[in-house]
Amino acid sequence: MTTRRKLIAGNWKMNGLKADGIALAKGIADKLASASPDCDLLVCPPFTLIAPVADAVAGSRLAVGGQDCHAKTSGAHTGDTSPAMLADLGCKYAIVGHSERRTDHAETDSVVKAKAAAALAAGLVAIVCIGETLAQRDAGQTIEVNRSQINGSLPEGANAANTVIAYEPVWAIGTGRVATPAQAQEVHAAIRAELVKLIGAAEAGKMRILYGGSMKPDNARELLALPDVDGGLIGGAALKVADFWAIAESC
Ligand code: PEP
Repeated sequence: MTTRRKLIAGNWKMNGLKADGIALAKGIADKLASASPDCDLLVCPPFTLIAPVADAVAGSRLAVGGQDCHAKTSGAHTGDTSPAMLADLGCKYAIVGHSERRTDHAETDSVVKAKAAAALAAGLVAIVCIGETLAQRDAGQTIEVNRSQINGSLPEGANAANTVIAYEPVWAIGTGRVATPAQAQEVHAAIRAELVKLIGAAEAGKMRILYGGSMKPDNARELLALPDVDGGLIGGAALKVADFWAIAESC
């Protein structure tokens, strides 16, 4: 029997203008006011919407996070956002190392590790994303790739309270192709075994490992019931209140 409380996190990516974002977040917060799904709920809007969304849901049980952060607190980094700035707006979490950042911005494990460390230093919970590509899976390298990424991306001082892992097979993100329960459980268990080596059995046993990759209302229950799946990082299905809420209710 696990004591890990599930986390359902919405990654809105580069979607939404102010009115859409506020309506979406308020829609979720309103539902949370009168119902208590068996999970924590988080939305990660684009940077432009963090302030209005955080204001709109202030006082509710819906947490707000960033989709990325810089590794430094301040300085000459045009266009970037520091973890301290996220915290200042009311964020509790920062996603780091999403595969779209690793691809679009050439972020390596060491960059992701530095960002995660900076997030922890600012008092945020880091959601560290890892996951294999289809070519790596087809080459039989899935476990090795995820082990290597977790080793390279996990910050010093990571523990179950300040860090969440998100396993997101790249081939399942935004594709409608979802990992089978057996595929997801195999990788989640391997990640947890690697965490045992890195942070010890007690913290590894408490650390949340989310699944991400085309999780939807119709497949969430099966995935969320797996022994080592402790929630979901949701892209497309996080953009509709009804879908996001249905996933939350599947916990
Ligand atoms: C994601 O962006 O992290 C993600 C899992 O997207 P989707 O749910 O759309 O596959």
